[in-house]
Amino acid sequence: MEQHCPRCHEQQVQKSSTSNVGRHAGLIGMLIVNSAASYSCPNCGKIPLAEFPDDFQSTIKRKRTLSILGAVGVVVLVIVLLFARELM
Ligand SMILES: [Zn+2]
Repeated sequence: MEQHCPRCHEQQVQKSSTSNVGRHAGLIGMLIVNSAASYSCPNCGKIPLAEFPDDFQSTIKRKRTLSILGAVGVVVLVIVLLFARELM
């Protein structure tokens, strides 16, 4: 997804995650880090989500909701599978 910087309107913002924790924490960690990732401009640095246009913000919020739901879904699935194994 491409989005120009709301400050300089020249550069395209890049998604940046704050750390590599997600890679070590597996799928769920990745989903959480992904949902907490911020956007930064090569010229202006980190840009708070509030400075972006409304449609971009709603896209991000929808994506975040989806990744949180995905993470919850994975956790539920793992628990269900564990219980299923216990019962067999
Ligand atoms: Zn900028």
